[in-house]
Amino acid sequence: MDWKKAIAGLKSLIADVGPLWPKSTKLAGFASNGPYHCANCEYLVKDGTRCKQEVMMADSEVEHDKEGLAIITDPEHQCCEFVEPNKLVQIGSEYKRARSARRKRQES
Ligand code: SF4
Repeated sequence: MDWKKAIAGLKSLIADVGPLWPKSTKLAGFASNGPYHCANCEYLVKDGTRCKQEVMMADSEVEHDKEGLAIITDPEHQCCEFVEPNKLVQIGSEYKRARSARRKRQES
């Protein structure tokens, strides 16, 4: 993904049609009142306190640290429109589910 181009296009679209995401920041659609959460997102770094997603880093309504990373204060209740499930969590969950299903088959 060419994030620079995507961000420029998104800014242009928002300027043309207005905000896209309700109750969220205009650019990244970041909000802090979920049942949704950042916690399993692959962009979450630094022990769950920062986000390295390009649109989040370009969003002027989001707070950033001195490295430009978006500051995440409540990963269990925050999220944005660019959430990407962490592949390792998915693989781990699938492995756990498969083991549990096999155990149940062996018990019956
Ligand atoms: S859900 Fe959005 S804000 Fe949260 S870590 Fe992922 S990309 Fe960043």
